[in-house]
Amino acid sequence: METKAKKATEKKKRETAAEKRKKALALEIIERLKQEYPASECTLTYDEAWKLLVSVRLAAQCTDARVNVVVQDLYAKFPDVEALAAADVDEIEKIVRPCGLGPSKARDISACMKVIRDQYDGKVPEDFDALLALPGVGRKSANLIMGDVFNKPAIVTDTHCIRLVNRMGLVDNIKEPKKVEMLLWKIIPPQEGSDFCHRLVDHGREVCTARTKPYCDRCCLKDICARNGVEA
Ligand code: SF4
Repeated sequence: METKAKKATEKKKRETAAEKRKKALALEIIERLKQEYPASECTLTYDEAWKLLVSVRLAAQCTDARVNVVVQDLYAKFPDVEALAAADVDEIEKIVRPCGLGPSKARDISACMKVIRDQYDGKVPEDFDALLALPGVGRKSANLIMGDVFNKPAIVTDTHCIRLVNRMGLVDNIKEPKKVEMLLWKIIPPQEGSDFCHRLVDHGREVCTARTKPYCDRCCLKDICARNGVEA
């Protein structure tokens, strides 16, 4: 029993040391990415909170650029929560079809707007769990809304974030979005999370690309990055 307890203590010590190293690495990466991408922000365009909710749902398996075009037609026809909540799902589907997955996206948008209208007086709730309970809203979207709309701590684990934090060595071969998010909460200062994730998107598009050989030679992190899974 004693040996078991000792082993557990040793393991805890090792984990704490590893977390400390990761925290220090994360702070350095955050600072360097700030210098590199001072103006990173969400590439979905919106001027009201509910519109970002609509856009994040449409952005699944679609580019932000296409979403930004498609929503113009949607809002021309249904300019507010009330109008969109009352809209026929087929009408919404016809407009959002170019974003792919039209039927399910239209269904979710319609259901979500109805909840916002009926339960929240037309306003997007400023609460993570309430956002998460909305139709079609997952952790990634709820975090995006918390960070971008309400300026609250947020960690958005999209495909760029997951690829980059694994390569950099901030997490160790973890691909499941919620697990990555939980690990990042431990090492990223909460107030930095939202901007950090936007910067990861820019860095993932421009330098640390999804191809097997990212552009490490011109990367501002090349001397501190673990380059996990990157071919030499
Ligand atoms: S050094 Fe390479 S793997 Fe690491 S963040 Fe930069 S581009 Fe990505």
